[in-house]
Amino acid sequence: MSSTNGPKNPYVQPLASVPPAPAVESSEEEHFIVRDPDGTAHVIGTQRETVILDPTTGERHFIKTRELMRSSDNRLLLNPGEDQVFRCDECGAQSVSHYSVKICAGCFLPRHAACMHALDEQTYLCKACFKHYRLRRFIQWIFSLIR
Ligand SMILES: [Zn+2]
Ligand SMILES: [Zn+2]
Repeated sequence: MSSTNGPKNPYVQPLASVPPAPAVESSEEEHFIVRDPDGTAHVIGTQRETVILDPTTGERHFIKTRELMRSSDNRLLLNPGEDQVFRCDECGAQSVSHYSVKICAGCFLPRHAACMHALDEQTYLCKACFKHYRLRRFIQWIFSLIR
C-alpha cells in the first residue's frame, strides 16, 4: 500500500523541514559583584545554570558554567563571594587578592605590600603613615642631639 494516495498521518509527517530548535527550559544566573563606597561596581565571578530540552528526543541537557575572574595580582578568584578581595588606595588597583595585601600598622587599612614601606617582616606602613613615622623619628633625633 502506497502512502501517497491515502490521508497523511500528521504524527509521522514533519510540520516543517527544519527540526524544531531545542528550547531553554530554565536558566539561572548568579553574579558576584563588588560595589565600592563611591558606587562603582566590579564583577568578580558569574555562575550560570541552564536546562535545555530537546523537543525531538525529550532529553534534558544540564549546562553549568562558572566564570572566574583573575585578580589584579594574577590570582584566580576561586570562591567569589567568600574570598576577600581588596582595593589598594595607594595605586588604585582593584580586586587584589589577600596574598598581596598587608595591613598598615598605623591606620589599619589594607594596601599592596609593594605599595607600602616595610619596617620589618611583620610591620608595614602606608605612605601617609610612613611620612608621620619619619617625621616623628626626625624630631626624636633632634631632641637626642639637644640633650
Ligand atoms: Zn597598590
Ligand atoms: Zn597607614
